[in-house]
Amino acid sequence: MQVTFLGTGTSQGIPIIGSNHPVCLSDDFRDKRLRVSILISWDDAVYVIDCGPDFRQQMLRANCNKIDGILFTHEHADHTAGLDDIRPFYFRQGDIPMYAHKRVFGEFKKRFDYIFRTENKYPGAPGVIQYEVKNNEPFQLQGVTVMPINAWHYKLQVFGYRFDNFAYLTDVKTMEAEERDKLKGLKVLVVNALRIEEHISHFSLEEALEFIAEIQPEKAYLTHISHLLGFHAEVSEKLPENVFLAYDTLTITI
Ligand SMILES: [Zn+2]
Repeated sequence: MQVTFLGTGTSQGIPIIGSNHPVCLSDDFRDKRLRVSILISWDDAVYVIDCGPDFRQQMLRANCNKIDGILFTHEHADHTAGLDDIRPFYFRQGDIPMYAHKRVFGEFKKRFDYIFRTENKYPGAPGVIQYEVKNNEPFQLQGVTVMPINAWHYKLQVFGYRFDNFAYLTDVKTMEAEERDKLKGLKVLVVNALRIEEHISHFSLEEALEFIAEIQPEKAYLTHISHLLGFHAEVSEKLPENVFLAYDTLTITI
């Protein structure tokens, strides 16, 4: 199984438009972070988690010309605003499978009504197939069992996803004990760490490290990073030896 980090930045991305913050001005390519997303592939299967406003650029950069589906963590714009750009995949492949909580599909029907309407649909609008994700109901994707992991982004429910011994969590602030139990025995855990200071709806660096210490994956990668976390090179040096900052374009094999 291969995972490519398509984006590792928080909602505004890094650099932030107009910002003079030193991290936003950094020349290190690892400090340039598009909105958070991963590409996950095995055998001939290719899936994307979330579809933010940088989706088009991410697909071009990753040279990705086929996707078998998109899994959504939640409906916030930094995870969904790129949905229109599934059109090239739709034109080549037909309806694109989407996996999300029922509430997320409800939001999509408001924001992307032209995609989800069943009557008077414009011929250029993309089509999707909806698969509802329910907690405690693992599903199969081309020979791999995917386990949804329920978590909380302040008061908003979000899903993380476990694929075999890999799990991807983002926009998590709290998680119940029975959900943490679903994360035992991981080789690789990806989890969000926004910044040093606490935040109402995201793990801070310290909270993410505490979470990792409890879950005990072999390795962990941090994502959904704000410029306020600091320079990639400097923060990386301070992390425990099995914890890494993810950066855009990083590919790992699990
Ligand atoms: Zn987010």
